[in-house]
Amino acid sequence: MSAPFPPDIFKGERFAVLGLGRAGLPAARALVAMGAEVTVWDDTAKAREAATGLVVAEPVMAGLQGLVMSPGIPHLLPKPHPAAIAARASGVPILSDADLLYRAVRKAGSAARFVGITGTNGKSTTTALVAHILTQSGLQAKAGGNLGEAALSLGLLPDDGVYVLEMSSYMLERLASLRFDAAAMLNLSADHIDRHGDMAGYAAAKRHIFDRQTEGDVAVIGADDALSREMAADHGPARLVMISGDDAPLATAPTLPGRHNAQNIAAATALCHALGLGDAAIAAGIRSYPGLAHRQELVARSGETLWVNDSKATNADSAAKALSCYERMIWIAGGQSKEGGIAPLAEFFPRIRHALLIGRDAAPFAETLSAHNVAHSLVGTLERAVDEAVRLIPMLAPDAVLLSPACASWDQFTGFDQRGDVFRDLARKAAGESI
Ligand code: ADP
Repeated sequence: MSAPFPPDIFKGERFAVLGLGRAGLPAARALVAMGAEVTVWDDTAKAREAATGLVVAEPVMAGLQGLVMSPGIPHLLPKPHPAAIAARASGVPILSDADLLYRAVRKAGSAARFVGITGTNGKSTTTALVAHILTQSGLQAKAGGNLGEAALSLGLLPDDGVYVLEMSSYMLERLASLRFDAAAMLNLSADHIDRHGDMAGYAAAKRHIFDRQTEGDVAVIGADDALSREMAADHGPARLVMISGDDAPLATAPTLPGRHNAQNIAAATALCHALGLGDAAIAAGIRSYPGLAHRQELVARSGETLWVNDSKATNADSAAKALSCYERMIWIAGGQSKEGGIAPLAEFFPRIRHALLIGRDAAPFAETLSAHNVAHSLVGTLERAVDEAVRLIPMLAPDAVLLSPACASWDQFTGFDQRGDVFRDLARKAAGESI
């Protein structure tokens, strides 16, 4: 769909890429393919081994147009990487791959538009939803950034194309030229404070999504929390659109349940309006939205009971969103708990017919549930949890069997995605009816 970039647009420019992970390696290869001189480095030898065909060397700042740092590497807090200190001392800009994508697109002569989406929660959903609506309405749209494909792997879109970029706060702090035609800041709650010092620092990082916007651009801001509302007072010259999870949605979809998703729908609607789409096209796109894996993903059905994979819920805050969507559920939870465990979820406990606990911190979770008189079993593994759920369904007639662990997965899985994949397979086999 997208075209390759011209091979000479970064000719004569020099970049160092630090961090050879999901974003760094494709960024380095893309920059080389565009004619730049690139050196790459990663502090771990194993990551360096993956850099076949690239010039591996510790970054030297002299003559660099930019230091491209992976989002995972801090340039300030809690402790700046030495290369970031060197870059600042030499006046070399620290860039995210999204900024280089923007520069490459403009250098290649394309007027493709850019949509940016940030916030503490709902970024991936809103990004995927916007891209889906645009694609369904016949536009060429590519989603990426923090979600899915790295920015520099998205290729070159023509003048009427749209890049829809999920922007983490780390990426936003590393922009020098990217200007979003339409940008959304969904919500702000405590997260990643270690990297930003305090809430003010975190909000300041998110605020960068509106940098360089002009009168013709649109700034979409969530009205559902105080910090976001504060940002609305100081978003720059763009046209402001406030959105809320309480707005009447243009349309809904079974893949977008709950008030939190209503906020994502409202944001996506405002962004698509900003790009010139009409209500009918937007509504059609919302209705046909297929959902993202591991985020309240509907994976199977046993009669009236839905099997829901919300493996992405690695903390209590996220699990709360899914727990609020069902009335009588079998809840599968546990793994590597975050501080506070599941105590903050007590308001949802009356909706739980039975909890099935897996993973390392099942025992403290069981204690919390006992204290609230919630029926539960310690089953250890997802396999046993699914077997037990199958046995319980006829007795409890739940509306959902929900995997929303409120925990990291590292004790039993390689990540939340593998945990979700395993659950999806087991649920489909057990239920007999896939969705
Ligand atoms: P992100 O990319 O910001 O992590 P996702 O779209 O992947 O967000 O959603 C992750 C989880 O965050 C969801 O499973 C849900 O529990 C919660 N969530 C989604 N959208 C919102 C929202 N608008 N407000 C609050 N929580 C949300």
